[in-house]
Amino acid sequence: MKSHKINNFHNDIEVFPWNKNFETGIPLIDEQHKQLVSLLNKLATSLVRGNSIEINGVFDNLTKYAEFHFESEEEIWAEYFGSDSWLSSHQISHSSFLPKVMALKEQEIRKPQTEIIESIMLFLIRWLAFHIMDNDKRMALLVHNINKGLSFEEAKAAADKKMNGSIRALIETVMTMYDSLSSRTLALMRESHERQKIENALNKTNRELRKANLRLESLAITDQLTGLFNRRHFNHVFARELNRARREKTYFALLILDIDFFKKINDNYGHSEGDRILIKTSHKLKELCQRPGDFIFRLGGEEFGIISANLNCRGTQEFAEIIRKEIESLQIPNKFSDVAQFLTISIGAITKIPTETDTLDSLMSTADSRLYKAKELGRNQIVSGG
Ligand code: GH3
Ligand code: MG
Ligand code: MG
Repeated sequence: MKSHKINNFHNDIEVFPWNKNFETGIPLIDEQHKQLVSLLNKLATSLVRGNSIEINGVFDNLTKYAEFHFESEEEIWAEYFGSDSWLSSHQISHSSFLPKVMALKEQEIRKPQTEIIESIMLFLIRWLAFHIMDNDKRMALLVHNINKGLSFEEAKAAADKKMNGSIRALIETVMTMYDSLSSRTLALMRESHERQKIENALNKTNRELRKANLRLESLAITDQLTGLFNRRHFNHVFARELNRARREKTYFALLILDIDFFKKINDNYGHSEGDRILIKTSHKLKELCQRPGDFIFRLGGEEFGIISANLNCRGTQEFAEIIRKEIESLQIPNKFSDVAQFLTISIGAITKIPTETDTLDSLMSTADSRLYKAKELGRNQIVSGG
């Protein structure tokens, strides 16, 4: 007997696959028997997956099935068996089905659902084995023999001979094995399904943790007001990019930008307006620093830093000039500025292929002093160099 097979995770589990041995050769009866097997497999599926199923619905199905199936089966038998004892004992066997179902149903209040499903399954498996594989087949064989032209008594004897008592013993042995196998297998399958569920949940939690970590990491390097990278990240990228440029002997550019007379904006237009202007300026700077290898930071207050791996000395001067012009053309009013009607910036920059003597501090202090030089020279301008 082929035993348990999981077709796939989502389909019903065939705990009791339909088997040629169940077939009586009478299509109407076989079709109805198949329905019982399918109900059995549904029960097994729900047991393994821990799905709650409507127990009352299951009992209703069994009741309806029994009434309909027994009636149509007995009609067929009656045609051939008349008042023979085979039919009357078969009818007695049929009439024991419903009371047994009812008895199981009565346990519903006292027992957990899984136990009830298991008892229904065991009952149905036995029914399939003893009633269908033995009684129904024996009677179908007799019908078959009569249709072949044998007399009733000959047909009966031939059917009995074919289905001799050893079949019952065989079935009983197999069923005992099957019972223990199936309940152990079902328990294992249930366990593996539970484990799978836990694993899925763990994977989900891991994914969420990873996402939360990424969010945290990104928060840790972001300036809250402007959304640019913050000073902390500047220190990190500065060291990393400087080392890279040293190693690869490529240009390293550092630009420090500072808004001119920003204090006057706060003083005259209010601090919130000052904030809005910082955001607007940042967006523009970000827009201008889009190339891979360009990084823009808010270093604090109204001071920004740009690190670029894309610029030589001339390129830096040109890029700084574009930035200066672009900010000026935003035409953000700063009528109290001493240098222009609109918001302007000053920039100090250094660009070089760094050697061992070019340190974070030395580069920073050169850029810084150039920025203050630009301020001294009248602001809204750039002082850059190697
Ligand atoms: P200079 O042209 O010499 O750079 O003059 P400045 O007024 O821009 O420079 P100063 O350093 O005197 O003033 C900077 C001002 O920026 C002072 C400070 O209150 C303001 N500030 C710093 N951070 C923020 C902020 O997050 N929001 C607002 N609205 N203002 C800020
Ligand atoms: Mg300033
Ligand atoms: Mg300043």
